[in-house]
Amino acid sequence: MSMKLLRQLGLDNDDRVVLEPVGDETPEKGIVLSMNPATGTPIAGVRLDTADSDEKTMAEAVAGFDRWRRIPAPVRGQVVREIGNEYRKYLEPLGELVALEVGKIRAEGIGEVQETVDIADFAVGLSRQLYGKTMPSERPEHRMYEQWLPLGPIGVISAFNFPNAVWGWNAMLGAVCGDVTVWKPSLFAPLTAIATNAIAERVAADMGYKDIFKLVIGTDEEIGDRLIHDGRIPLISATGSCRMGRIVGSVVAKRLGRCLLELGGNNAIIVEGDADLDLAFEGIFFGAVGTAGQRCTSTRRLIAHESIVEPLTDRLVSAYGKVNIGDPLNPDTLVGPLINERSVEQFLRAIAKAKEQGGEVLVGGDRATGDGLGGHFVQPTIIRVPADKPFPIAHEETFAPILYIFSYKTIDEAIAMQNDADQGLSSAIFTSGVRAAEKFLSPAGAGSDCGLAYVNLGTSGAEIGGAFGGEKDTGGGRESGSDSWKQYMRRQTVTINYGESMRLAQGIEFGAS
Ligand code: NAD
Repeated sequence: MSMKLLRQLGLDNDDRVVLEPVGDETPEKGIVLSMNPATGTPIAGVRLDTADSDEKTMAEAVAGFDRWRRIPAPVRGQVVREIGNEYRKYLEPLGELVALEVGKIRAEGIGEVQETVDIADFAVGLSRQLYGKTMPSERPEHRMYEQWLPLGPIGVISAFNFPNAVWGWNAMLGAVCGDVTVWKPSLFAPLTAIATNAIAERVAADMGYKDIFKLVIGTDEEIGDRLIHDGRIPLISATGSCRMGRIVGSVVAKRLGRCLLELGGNNAIIVEGDADLDLAFEGIFFGAVGTAGQRCTSTRRLIAHESIVEPLTDRLVSAYGKVNIGDPLNPDTLVGPLINERSVEQFLRAIAKAKEQGGEVLVGGDRATGDGLGGHFVQPTIIRVPADKPFPIAHEETFAPILYIFSYKTIDEAIAMQNDADQGLSSAIFTSGVRAAEKFLSPAGAGSDCGLAYVNLGTSGAEIGGAFGGEKDTGGGRESGSDSWKQYMRRQTVTINYGESMRLAQGIEFGAS
């Protein structure tokens, strides 16, 4: 299966990819193994960049940018349209490679590539809408407007769990904005990155535009560090943990560069007493169990009204007990593996801490073992939080399928509980009442403090049309839809005097005669 996929995607002919020998877990220096998390075995080796090859790529990106920025934006849009169409053709094999390499189920792997197709479509339209405003000047015979200009080669650092779409969000918008992308993917998903980037670069090159989509693969200490320190890169868009964001943010701030940070989440769903519990159940189940809890938007906390907490919990516990765990490429599977053994250990550590802190494990709580579960599988887990006792583990983002259940009496109390997290990414409420929904969405900003707020939908599964991102420790960045494109451009305010006298702003007289 894996060899067929690699061939379909041309990875068997890529200089970076080492197909043999991969049976050995200690590859030669300079090669990283891409591992299948469902089996714990290598898929292929990938050659890492060195300082020299990295510098070559950077120089090509700088030169590529100088050419690309001169191409009219609607023409850049046509290139992105062809790239989107090519991804449509590769939707299935690329989606399957995502599933193979990071363990999300096939439907979600394909859905991820669909997100890149969708953002490409969005970017094509945008290529004719990179509007600046015209504003009235206070001075007679003056005209004032703003224009948006290409920014430069931009650095994209992506997390393992969205090895295709995170780049797509950045690269498709960046491309119509006139930027070149230098992508540093996670070392847990280098094959998806190579295949994804090669498709875009090939299509653009065939249309006469080369060096628009660049890729560097290497360790954080060497290649990551070079990227974030590089003054030729005016914007670093980094997706990953809050720990990474603190490092990257401070390095880029020190050189006065621009950062777009998309970091961790600790997302909650509030369920009111009057909620449609069927809807709520579906939203919670997908949000907490989907992608084995490895989405930044995964539901980690359920805050349920005391009047419905018991029946809702019972229903979830029963569904968790029956969930199909296994090979992500098997259509019957709902939950694939965690990315690696370290994640399994973090899951087990969180469960142990939760128990120490008075939590009650209602279902799950251990590794998932059995036939076909030789990789990094865990049981989706529900933990009841003790009443009136601190429960610090629920403040941590454990990247695994653990759902903590809290109960509450009043909507104000529930909103305060939902906001009581360091991160502020995604939030949701299930209710049939306008009062609770509007309090949650308070125009005074007194409701949810997250970047994403959903009513009668779960926390997970954003559409590309909206700006995506979060507040507080999530980093404040916004990607994808709405006006996120502005971050990939620089704004220039233009003032033109078409009169014959020099007039100063604010009516200042500075007479020379
Ligand atoms: P991670 O922080 O370990 O790694 C993310 C990326 O940062 C990788 O490419 C890694 O190589 C790179 N990196 C780490 N340290 C670096 C450094 N010092 N210099 C340069 N690059 C560095 O995260 P992960 O385990 O891959 O992904 C899971 C995390 O990502 C979770 O916290 C999740 O919530 C978050 N995430 C957030 C979003 C979002 O949009 N907000 C989306 C996906 C994942």
